[in-house]
Amino acid sequence: MRESTTGTPDWTTDTWLIAGGRDRTPGEPLNVPPVFASNFYLPDDRLYSRSDGTPTTDALEDLLGGLEDGRALAFASGMAAAAVIFQRLHVGATIAVPEDPYHGVAGIVAEGEAQGRWTVRRLDQADTPAWLDAMRECDLVWLETPENPLMTVADLPVICGAPRGDMTLVAVDSTFATPLNQRPLDLGADVVMHSATKFIGGHSDLLAGVLITRSAELHDEFHHRRLLHGATIGAMEAFLTIRGARTMSLRVERAQANAMELAQRLEQHPEITRVLYPGLPSHSTHAVAATFMSGFGAMMSFETTGSGDRATEVCARAELINHATSLGGVETTMERRAAIPGQERIPPTLIRLSVGCEDVDDLWADFNHALRPT
Ligand SMILES: *Cc1c(COP(=O)(O)O)cnc(C)c1O
Repeated sequence: MRESTTGTPDWTTDTWLIAGGRDRTPGEPLNVPPVFASNFYLPDDRLYSRSDGTPTTDALEDLLGGLEDGRALAFASGMAAAAVIFQRLHVGATIAVPEDPYHGVAGIVAEGEAQGRWTVRRLDQADTPAWLDAMRECDLVWLETPENPLMTVADLPVICGAPRGDMTLVAVDSTFATPLNQRPLDLGADVVMHSATKFIGGHSDLLAGVLITRSAELHDEFHHRRLLHGATIGAMEAFLTIRGARTMSLRVERAQANAMELAQRLEQHPEITRVLYPGLPSHSTHAVAATFMSGFGAMMSFETTGSGDRATEVCARAELINHATSLGGVETTMERRAAIPGQERIPPTLIRLSVGCEDVDDLWADFNHALRPT
């Protein structure tokens, strides 16, 4: 928790990103170095890094937990973190998920369903009444907001604050929003998950995931599952995640300002038929997003005129924007989502764009080049 290291709970998140997770003992380095160790000399509380972590993972968890005023557990990837939430479900559980969650999460959900382990409600993220029923009736309510790739924003304050069943666990995949733009735990969620591979790491050079909760009981349970499943983060990844996180507020501020500007310009572009960005008044969940998000993020999707092949060609033609999957890096990336196996339901010309920190006019010039009619 934030106060455990610093005793200075008044710092803003921007300051905490830079100041948190440091061991201020005289003689210690400013940055906790990567500690490459599986085991430690006895007797000590720290025996083995799969169970007890390392000074590097402690620093990372301290830093990330403070972002949401909870306690964090770091994992080898976002999927390793998400899997823990599904592993805890008993046989016969009922779970509610968005219609189109992250494809890895969709895969876990579908596998458990095929094995008869649980029953699944796939809900339109904008259908708040359906989520309110799920809050009363399901064992797990899993939200991902904004949602991949249509950028639908769930009404988190209403859903997370609603009456719920005794056993209902509410988890939010908050990867696209980052801890800077929404705070699900403040709104009543039990656990927040982030793929730290994305905006937290911010440089497309690592895999990492995190679960953050304010419940000591859940924290201990998740810790135990991580230990059993061996889903621990590596030393170098933990170090790099901290290093990346230091600049997250600067990166996100720049990237989402770029995103707003590009969304507005793309909406006017003759080769674009639709822009999906929660910051645009034309987005179906803009009004909901505006009630609780502090920023609209750097993720958007758009559809081009013509065929799917034409959209792929637009991605291939870009010279500055990177034709690549994934998101949240300083470098802008885009990809045609329906080209991904299993994602054929997505509109064929939909391109998902992760806006980075380049100069917005250079990005715009690249769009004009890539979108020119053939
Ligand atoms: C990337 C991502 C994940 C999975 O995270 P990994 O670090 O790739 O395992 C989960 N949810 C969302 C929204 C993501 O973007």
